[in-house]
Amino acid sequence: MAQPFLARLRARHPEARIDALGPPWVAPVLRRMPEVDEVIEADFRHGALELGRRFRLARALRARGYDCAFVLPNSWKSALAPFLAAIPERIGYTGEARYGLLNRRHRARGAPMAEHYAALADSLGEPAAAPLPKTVLRADPARASATAARFGIRGDYGVLCPGAEYGPAKRWPYFAELAPRLALPAVLIGSAKDADACAGIAALDLCGKTTLDEAIDLIAGARFVVANDSGLMHVAAALDRPLVAIFGSSSPVHTPPRSARARVLWRSLECSPCFARVCPLGHLRCLREITVEQVLEALRVLEGGPLPDFRQQ
Ligand code: SF4
Repeated sequence: MAQPFLARLRARHPEARIDALGPPWVAPVLRRMPEVDEVIEADFRHGALELGRRFRLARALRARGYDCAFVLPNSWKSALAPFLAAIPERIGYTGEARYGLLNRRHRARGAPMAEHYAALADSLGEPAAAPLPKTVLRADPARASATAARFGIRGDYGVLCPGAEYGPAKRWPYFAELAPRLALPAVLIGSAKDADACAGIAALDLCGKTTLDEAIDLIAGARFVVANDSGLMHVAAALDRPLVAIFGSSSPVHTPPRSARARVLWRSLECSPCFARVCPLGHLRCLREITVEQVLEALRVLEGGPLPDFRQQ
């Protein structure tokens, strides 16, 4: 969701050095972004202040002499290190009352997430530059093939992402029925936390067995991807893979897969989007009413066009 922001920033400042600061679990994705020069990993526990470590990070940032820091999260803590590092321009949304910490504050307008972040690259009060750059992650076909071979995958395959860390209200319950109906062997990708969602699916289960880098390679090499609304769904979109994106309690208006080769399946019920982790009504109709046939039909539509191999960077 943040990558179009980086693309817009790079377009505005082609000569600038752009480094990205993020937690280690997201660093492999940041390293695939063509606009990023260097990734700085900072591993803070969720919700923890860890003041001493933030002071040390600030010292390291100050030594690098940055002119400007863009703070994408809304939390007070995320704005602390750029402030302590005395970076002259500190830009972000006001978020958690960050009046002193940020000195160029944008006002949130409820835009979809990618537009919301990308607007930070615009000057204050300036109308948004359009269109929003496409989301792109780097893929290397040779590396993708080597990764697939390492996991014993030969020939064409499809990727299924049955998990969604957010909660069951984002997990489509029919992946097990879908897998045997696919024309190609299926590979399950996800984290170790997705073990329950992957149980009982007749496919090569690599959930929790790959690094994020390997997961990205495997998605890059897939003929198609079927995913819940999740981080891996956005990875598949950014790698330009034919993608069926299944939405439950969340909304494709807010966080759509940013790819012309994605088909979104979403039941716009009177109760949706509720953004709940677990269906508060107990029936999960938003996901249960999306059928295996609908997913297969979406895949057929995607397969109808040519499927060029890999996005060449
Ligand atoms: S309340 Fe509606 S949108 Fe929310 S999880 Fe349940 S069925 Fe889905």
